[in-house]
Amino acid sequence: ARLVGASAEGDDQAVEAALRPKDLSEFVGQEKVRQQLDLVLKAARQRGATADHVLLSGAPGLGKTTLSMIIAAEMGAPIRITSGPAIQHAGDLAAVLSSLQEGEILFLDEIHRMSRPAEEMLYMAMEDFRVDVIVGKGLGATAIPLELPPFTLVGATVRAGLLPPPLRDRFGFTAHMEFYDPAELQRVIHRSAGLLDVEIDPAGAAEIAGRSRGTPRIANRLLRRVRDYAQVRADGVITRAISEAALSVYEVDSRGLDRLDRAVLEALLKLFGGGPVGLSTLAVAVGEEHETVREVAEPFLVREGLLARTLRGRIATPAAWEHFGLAPPQQGGA
Ligand code: ATP
Repeated sequence: ARLVGASAEGDDQAVEAALRPKDLSEFVGQEKVRQQLDLVLKAARQRGATADHVLLSGAPGLGKTTLSMIIAAEMGAPIRITSGPAIQHAGDLAAVLSSLQEGEILFLDEIHRMSRPAEEMLYMAMEDFRVDVIVGKGLGATAIPLELPPFTLVGATVRAGLLPPPLRDRFGFTAHMEFYDPAELQRVIHRSAGLLDVEIDPAGAAEIAGRSRGTPRIANRLLRRVRDYAQVRADGVITRAISEAALSVYEVDSRGLDRLDRAVLEALLKLFGGGPVGLSTLAVAVGEEHETVREVAEPFLVREGLLARTLRGRIATPAAWEHFGLAPPQQGGA
């Protein structure tokens, strides 16, 4: 797995669970979302009602799963966790829905990847707390209506725009999660260091924060790698110098670019004079599949303003030249 990748796997998941904030007050950043959600939940609690359905949109690793667990904790309700890809048939969804308790939170990650029939069943369940279970096939098929206890659906997706409008419209509240700024990430890192019982100074945390791509999951992962280094090569205390040395071992540079990101940019700058160059040509130059370049490296480079996708091909921005300490070629000429 990539050290600067935003998805969680294996070992990551266990440590992540331990680092998860348990309530809204522990949840760092996302001021707007926290305020809005706080109102939604408080009001529902005061009315003694189940909270409205909530849609969380945002890039991987920004805290959607964490927030869904916080919603459950704040409502004093149990939570069931599943995902769009796990629900391929309407029957899978019916089974989950019919086993919910009153007030339970149902977290549906990657909700945009559910199958069409399941999606349609969900419309009715969200609106009327009812589903029609189809029994039998062909002419003999009958729909058996099934009442559901009121529940709160918390859906998560990378972009709200990926959902069909009828599904999107059935959420009472949509929270847009933003990338975190360095100061917020620094707070995440200090909090995690405390939980992991690691000593870290502010400059050390700032150094890790600056390389974490606006993403708490990456910040926590880099912190663990820097901790390893501090433990093995030094006295265990994380300072700026230790963070720099550790992250250079892992080839994560000062802006959070890794080996692949740098290879793509360097090829673009040095072999193609900053572009424009076609994706396939660029991919061949770095010895990767073009999907890898497009899906793994480019999104962050575009977001950082280092690379632009144009109709004529990929181009490097002035910031990219600067990041590599190179002078951009003269514009226009005679
Ligand atoms: P994915 O959609 O890929 O599952 P996600 O958005 O659900 O990602 P989480 O699993 O909730 O992300 O968060 C990843 C890790 O980042 C968690 O372990 C948690 O410790 C940390 N984290 C996320 N958001 C915050 C936050 N606001 N404050 C502190 N820690 C956070």
